Amino acid sequence: MGVPCVRVAREDGEATRQRLAEADLVDDGYDITVADGSLYVPVTDPTAVPDAFDVVEFDAPVREGQTMPADILGVDPSYERIGDLVIIDEDDPERARTIADAIVDSDLPVEGVLNRASKIKGEQRVRDWEVLAGDTTEVVHREYGCAFELDLAAVYFSPRLATERHRVVEQVREGEHAFDMFAGVGPFVVPFAKRGATCVGTDINERAVEYLRRNAERNGVADRITAIHGDVREVAADYTGWADRVVMNLPHSADEFVETAVELAGDDCVLHYYDIQPDEDLYGPGERAVRAAAEPAYEVTVETRRTVRSYAPGEQNVVLDVRLRR
Ligand code: SAM
Repeated sequence: MGVPCVRVAREDGEATRQRLAEADLVDDGYDITVADGSLYVPVTDPTAVPDAFDVVEFDAPVREGQTMPADILGVDPSYERIGDLVIIDEDDPERARTIADAIVDSDLPVEGVLNRASKIKGEQRVRDWEVLAGDTTEVVHREYGCAFELDLAAVYFSPRLATERHRVVEQVREGEHAFDMFAGVGPFVVPFAKRGATCVGTDINERAVEYLRRNAERNGVADRITAIHGDVREVAADYTGWADRVVMNLPHSADEFVETAVELAGDDCVLHYYDIQPDEDLYGPGERAVRAAAEPAYEVTVETRRTVRSYAPGEQNVVLDVRLRR
């Protein structure tokens, strides 16, 4: 099975290993390996590796004497890592217990195991959790060189969106004004601010805004982020025509907020519009909603249509990058 590894020239190997170890990213479950003149250092979280490094999938051997959950269970269980917590998604309580015990008894560096106990629900998009090991739902998660403190039981956060967020982050220019209408704990605005943007993030969940402020401090960008607790529809009036970029990551009801996004837009603004739609017409509803709200005051150009991930059978989570030019 391929393991995410940082690939470096052999002569840079020890310096690289040290840097990754300082960031707590070296995966001790696998051997550091030399192949084809390069050194492969296994990493626990590829999305947290700084951009300067080359991350590849490599068939690194399991370290002799290391016990993985699959060695205990006889099958490879499906799980997700967020910081030093492991998340599983098991309906059968007995199976959930068995997998959690195997994860704890393995050599994975883990502080706790959580099972999904409900769907994501309500306006604040938070789910219930069953704590199967450890005693907390709080975690510090690293993503593309930023650290995010959060409580999974109090706020929305999905590590699965890391690649999509990074795609958007890479478009951000120094000095631009970026507004995240549904900011959560800051996984868009914190890296935006690190690239030199001036950012505003709003969220209706007060706990999310508290974490957003802490994460802005933790990542050294508090001076470039204004975090506001409230309904974005009420906050927007203070930022009319302000934004060069607007992020709308509330996929089930984005269409109800397009007028607000247009109110925030400056003369030349990119809107990142997230949506969930059936395979038959993935992008049409979003494009029509934006055109209805923005035309004729703005010229509307859809610059990107992209599927972020599969949401359910026959339904996809998609994004449109739409430029509005007045
Ligand atoms: N952007 C974050 C991320 O990627 O992790 C959070 C996205 S989450 C899907 C949507 C967020 O929108 C939630 O944190 C929720 O509390 C917030 N929200 C929902 N309705 C809102 C509103 N009317 N005004 C501001 N925030 C709202």
